[in-house]
Amino acid sequence: MSDDERKIVLDKSEFSDWYNNVVEVAGLSEKRYPVKGMNVWTPYGWKIMQFIDSIIRRECDATGHEEVNFPLLIPKTEFQKEKDHIKGFDAEVYWVTHGGLNELDVPLLLRPTSETAMYPIFSLWVRSHNDLPLKTYQIVNTFRYETKMTRSFIRVREIHFFEAHTCHDSFEDAERQIREDCAIMGRVGKDLCLPYLLIKRPEWDKFAGAVYTIGVDTLMPSMKTLQLGSIHQYRENFSRPYDIKYEGQDAQFHYCHQTTYGMSERLVGAIVGIHGDDKGVILPPNIAPFQFVIIPILAKDRTEMVLEEAKKLLNEMREMGYRVKLDDRDQRPGSKHYDWEIKGVPIRIEIGPRDIEKGTLVFARRDLSTKSFIKRSDLKVEADRALNQVQDELLRRAQEIVEKGVRDVDSLDDGIKLLGSGWDGIIRTHWCGEMDCAGEMEKGLDRTFLGFPMNDAGSGEEEKSPGNCMFCGRPTETVVMLSKSY
Ligand code: ZN
Repeated sequence: MSDDERKIVLDKSEFSDWYNNVVEVAGLSEKRYPVKGMNVWTPYGWKIMQFIDSIIRRECDATGHEEVNFPLLIPKTEFQKEKDHIKGFDAEVYWVTHGGLNELDVPLLLRPTSETAMYPIFSLWVRSHNDLPLKTYQIVNTFRYETKMTRSFIRVREIHFFEAHTCHDSFEDAERQIREDCAIMGRVGKDLCLPYLLIKRPEWDKFAGAVYTIGVDTLMPSMKTLQLGSIHQYRENFSRPYDIKYEGQDAQFHYCHQTTYGMSERLVGAIVGIHGDDKGVILPPNIAPFQFVIIPILAKDRTEMVLEEAKKLLNEMREMGYRVKLDDRDQRPGSKHYDWEIKGVPIRIEIGPRDIEKGTLVFARRDLSTKSFIKRSDLKVEADRALNQVQDELLRRAQEIVEKGVRDVDSLDDGIKLLGSGWDGIIRTHWCGEMDCAGEMEKGLDRTFLGFPMNDAGSGEEEKSPGNCMFCGRPTETVVMLSKSY
């Protein structure tokens, strides 16, 4: 097959089709499993997810969280204890009603999230103030009966999910936890080259059972926001119905304050969508299954010598701790380039007879399509430098999307004009707090309330500035953002 015949058209300007195609041709997910929205993790896609998970584990372990693993099935009786929570999830739950041929006395549900699985047990684990804070997390699959159109990693029915659950002796300590969560997000976002906004959700859009919810939102090239994660303050909303109490230093029993922090496989979706191009995906070096691919340039009579040198290079780089693949398939180099570009390997290394004679290697960066000659003797320094350069460039480009994708608008007319001019993205404006105004703003702009932007990662405060409500013009300091979202 010639390269031309193999070419699959990837046109990122048609983002939605591009995304679906690139997921498929890069071999990130197998969508042909016969249940809608339940995809198979392929070896390559699963490796990427595992590297992301290991970054999350590193962060959780470093901040004193302990990993747990709770059962998938939750009894209906436990699920029903917190009323708002049930209301929020009722329509999305899968039920198990039979065990073999017998109808179960108490139906079981597949966890949509694990509050109602964990908290009956937390009430046994937490006894005294010495048990606090209790900081746990798990990385498991969760299930939601999505009725909207599904999309790999972005909207699925079986979700690879990270959830941290914590218990505290006071509201202040729970707030401190939320600031820690924001700081964790900062480090994870940097490793994955994903910029994001921390946005406090409006009352009507907060997590079922939460006192408040902070959404972690990024902006996709389609100019729609994608929620990557969420952080919730529960106060005593769950500890009361689930009876999670501790004996304080005052010898009295008190209900715990609780928080959660969740992220999902959407991180993979964001990486694919934000960094990829018309040649395929581009993976940040920290999570790339292969950071380097070695392509031997084979010449007549020198084949064995080149292959031998390529293997030496492979072993040397592996010993240095890099994730490297040697592509010694019997194919033309051009065809191999094409394959690894689709899969997004950050650096391609070419080694041929002339390079071996001169003691050089060719490094080709996936993100810029540039090539450079490096000295074989500088391998470690050059390899580190190249990975850092790709990492920095991917983050820089993604930050540019977000920076260009947020615009300040004062009035509804200006907002409508701006959107009519062909610009799309997140609109930042002011809101007086009246529901009627919110409704008119959403209708007029054909965008929904994302919420209230937070100052910077970790401060825990909403952005305030003097202005006027976008709809009614009343003076207010409340800043809001509106967008189209996934
Ligand atoms: Zn108003």
